[in-house]
Amino acid sequence: MSNKETLGFQTEVKQLLQLMIHSLYSNKEIFLRELVSNASDAADKLRFEAIEQPALLESDPALSIRIEADKAARTLTITDNGIGMSRAEVIEHIGTIAKSGTKAFFERLTGDEQKDANLIGQFGVGFYSAFIVADRVTLTTRRAGLPASEGVRWESEGHGEYTLETVERAARGTEIVLHLKEGMDEFLDDWTLRRIVRTYSDHISLPIEMKKAASFDEDGKEVAGEGYEAVNQASALWARSKSEISDEQYREFYKHVAHDFSDPLAWTHARVEGSQEYTELLYIPSRAPFDLYDRERKQGVKLYVRRVFIMEDANKLMPMYLRFVRGVIDSADLPLNVSREILQQSRDIDAIRAGCVKKVLGLLDDLAANDADKYATFWREFGQVLKEGVGEDFANKARIAKLLRFASTHEDGAEPKVSLADYVSRMQAGQDKIYYITADSRAAALGSPHLEVFRKKGVEVLLLTDRVDEWVTASLTEFEGKPLVSVAKGALDLGELEDESDKAAQKEAEEAARPLAERISALLGDAVKEVRPTARLTDSPACLVVGEHEMSAHLERLLKQAGQ
Ligand code: ADP
Ligand code: MG
Repeated sequence: MSNKETLGFQTEVKQLLQLMIHSLYSNKEIFLRELVSNASDAADKLRFEAIEQPALLESDPALSIRIEADKAARTLTITDNGIGMSRAEVIEHIGTIAKSGTKAFFERLTGDEQKDANLIGQFGVGFYSAFIVADRVTLTTRRAGLPASEGVRWESEGHGEYTLETVERAARGTEIVLHLKEGMDEFLDDWTLRRIVRTYSDHISLPIEMKKAASFDEDGKEVAGEGYEAVNQASALWARSKSEISDEQYREFYKHVAHDFSDPLAWTHARVEGSQEYTELLYIPSRAPFDLYDRERKQGVKLYVRRVFIMEDANKLMPMYLRFVRGVIDSADLPLNVSREILQQSRDIDAIRAGCVKKVLGLLDDLAANDADKYATFWREFGQVLKEGVGEDFANKARIAKLLRFASTHEDGAEPKVSLADYVSRMQAGQDKIYYITADSRAAALGSPHLEVFRKKGVEVLLLTDRVDEWVTASLTEFEGKPLVSVAKGALDLGELEDESDKAAQKEAEEAARPLAERISALLGDAVKEVRPTARLTDSPACLVVGEHEMSAHLERLLKQAGQ
């Protein structure tokens, strides 16, 4: 029976391949990092499944990755004895991009190579990066637990299609043969390969083996090496002591755990002892992933128990408002056979999570205090998400409030720079409230008649123009004892900011305007609740105000847009 079939790549894969080959050309060697990263993930998955099913390890329990070059055939082979893939899994993982939101992502590509190259890094290219250096890739694999007769061979030249065939394969795991393109012979060189592995993959916790290098005997004759040796340190990076890890190693480890192409913005690494003993190595990315707002998104922090990978989950180890955090938590206490269901209600996990949240907030405090540029980057990428925390995390609300940044009438430019502490420190004498306005845009906020009296008195008003701001102001009603007050709600009480002559003049003006207000009220009838003279306005004749406890006009618009 011929079981060979030819299948077409998903449209997005074709686009990705095209784009990648052009845009990553200047950084070719990262293909090896990606393939090694996948092999390491495959070993993690096997170790985890083998906890319940030790038979999966067959007679081959020592997990490793091998890299071998064949100069005559001009091939480079990367082999692992990890989990492997079944035929269905090969189709699902290699040939389709399973990430949700992929289609939407590709619709955003502009056709401008420079811009798209930037975007593609954010998407992550993984396995397909093999085609930067190879014009044909042959992947042979067998899933752990399946018989040798259910091996699978996948082959493609990286254009529109690939072939798939069921083959005999005694060894468990995956072998990837790269048939190198013309001009890529540098990747056949032993020393070059060793350098690339050390540069990008030293942090991988299992041995990455290469054939022992050749040596020279007494007569100066070359003697081929025998057997294999590990090229990397092969110990879990997070378990090493901080002083032994270089920044470069921290960065490369981030790219592996986060499946990201860019450097991280910052990280925190600590061993925690106490009621729970664990190690955390958590990173803040330097840019938001394309699926930050996708509810299906699965990526998050990885949980290990004594170096064994247990799971990666976006929701259990970090709260939603810190869903951008990546990295590893390795517990010394949890049982190895811990299931997702148990994790769901585990108090131990709750304690670890609470501790890690504090670490991340501490890291952000530190950036905010000591590295304004990095904090501005953080805020631009993730500020909107962090804002959700004000409503979500009651215990840390005050701490999160300090991390918020807003645009304001007292700052030029749209970049939100003002913290609530900045605002409070420059409040006017007699001012006891923090004033803000919510609007669809900065221009709309600045054009609002509600700001007139504040401008006249030189009082700062925060300009809140993000969708999430309505929820922020609903949950954050005060900061360090100062109430947050919308300039567009209720009767405006400027407190001590109004002096006696202001009040007298206002009273007089109100009296004079009363007959007019009554006539307008009669004309508008039920369309308004009340028409009243005000001191809010200095230039505009009239404005709309909502009741103190009613929804703001802006929120009402947002809800309408959302179909509620
Ligand atoms: P990512 O690693 O971000 O998931 P990749 O493109 O690197 O994306 O890999 C796609 C998928 O292919 C992986 O998620 C995995 O399921 C599968 N895969 C790739 N390489 C291997 C391998 N060596 N062993 C088992 N599965 C693999
Ligand atoms: Mg990968």
